[in-house]
Amino acid sequence: MSNSLQQSIRHTLHEAQNILLLSHIRPDGDAIGSILGLGLSLQKIGKNVEMVLADGISNRHRFLPGSREIKRKVSKNFDISVVLDASDVRRTGGLAKDRLHDINIDHHVTNENFARINLVDPHASATAEILAEYMPEWGLLIDQDVATALLTGIIVDTIGFRTSNIRPKTLQLSARLMENGANLPELYQLSLVQKSIAAVRYWSPGLAKIQVEDGLLWTTLTLCDRENASYPLNDDADLVNLLTTIENIKISLLFVEQKNGTVKISWRAQPGIDVSQLATQFGGGGHPAAAGADIPGTLGEVKAKVLNSTITFLADAMHVSKT
Ligand code: 5GP
Ligand code: MN
Repeated sequence: MSNSLQQSIRHTLHEAQNILLLSHIRPDGDAIGSILGLGLSLQKIGKNVEMVLADGISNRHRFLPGSREIKRKVSKNFDISVVLDASDVRRTGGLAKDRLHDINIDHHVTNENFARINLVDPHASATAEILAEYMPEWGLLIDQDVATALLTGIIVDTIGFRTSNIRPKTLQLSARLMENGANLPELYQLSLVQKSIAAVRYWSPGLAKIQVEDGLLWTTLTLCDRENASYPLNDDADLVNLLTTIENIKISLLFVEQKNGTVKISWRAQPGIDVSQLATQFGGGGHPAAAGADIPGTLGEVKAKVLNSTITFLADAMHVSKT
């Protein structure tokens, strides 16, 4: 990353007094860990920080220091806004939506470089990894609380250091976060391994409905499934991670019916297949191996449309890999 980019981020953060930090809807560990990691360190140099996630945070991440400060609405005036782990502004869920954001820090290859200053590193395994690398250059301290937040981001986004974008630097930076006081086995257990009983009950109909055809696997979670399981959130309870453990599958697809008349799609692909481009065709985005989109329509309509496109896409990808 260029020196002038680092300097302009450092300058922009230090010049501002009131800083708004945002990340994406249905926040995962990287969204929450990044917002808290950067937010707590800015507070420690005397900044007023407002941390906002449109969907709030789930109980499973409440153990993180500072997590109770995260709000659902922007309530204060601010000098600058920083968007973390979101490849487009729509992902913030309409927060400060008419604004040209000041800083965009992200690791998605589909990032639209929507801010005044854009730090986008698609080689990083997590946005928290980018923060762990550069915060010292910005004059921000990584103490135990900050290290805990950032290591949680890395653990969750890499599903415990096992995604294809892991690189030596991921482990080096993670080791440094441990040296700064983050407890890896504890964070691994709390943020990744442990599940609520409601989450597992919600998986159950999803698993029962799995279909497989020509290397493609798909299943659905309906609002009714969610209600029956008393699952409180609008995400997939990480079912998609379980789907990726099934052998001989090229692409897995999960459809999650939403209350607002859209369907949330998650694609997961084997190395060599890039589903991020497929997701952008549907207004979403992501990484080559893991991407998503929110598509308006009923579950039946969206499923038919997306399955069709994914079948054609996979057939083309297999054809290209054979030639
Ligand atoms: P997931 O399927 O777990 O929701 O997301 C997989 C990856 O794609 C994540 O990195 C996530 O941030 C990204 N992603 C998921 N949904 C969307 C979306 O609607 N728009 C964009 N731009 N990215 C998404
Ligand atoms: Mn991320």
